[in-house]
Amino acid sequence: MADKSQIIACENCGTKNRISLENKDKAICGKCKEKLYFPTKPIEITGANFNLMVEKSTLPVLVDFWATWCPPCRMIAPILDEVARELSGKAMIGKLDVDANQITAGRFRVQSIPTLLIFKGGKQVERIVGLQTKEAILQKLKKHL
Ligand SMILES: [Zn+2]
Repeated sequence: MADKSQIIACENCGTKNRISLENKDKAICGKCKEKLYFPTKPIEITGANFNLMVEKSTLPVLVDFWATWCPPCRMIAPILDEVARELSGKAMIGKLDVDANQITAGRFRVQSIPTLLIFKGGKQVERIVGLQTKEAILQKLKKHL
């Protein structure tokens, strides 16, 4: 990979910064100068930021297509919180609300939720439908690290 950088949002001001993966421990926000950290929890993905945060991501990104009214989605949420913490700096975990982002959900033919899609290099490489164990999710994700 030529471009070993990653877009991450500043926890302080929300500005998206492109940082070098080699230099990630020294990265600071271009706007507020706070230290930048790789996310340790799922980030919000929308139709508007999908291209930048998912398709242009250097790290693999797991996107949870979910909705507030879906009980299995609520059950998988704490599992994804743990995965996000464990794989911080190695993979990104995102959540996309299918009701608020119907065009994006339609584009990936998400018909039942939760659906977890893993993207690497701008392409979908895994599709996991339904409630999963943490082990099953980690196993799929680790293939692409
Ligand atoms: Zn900032």
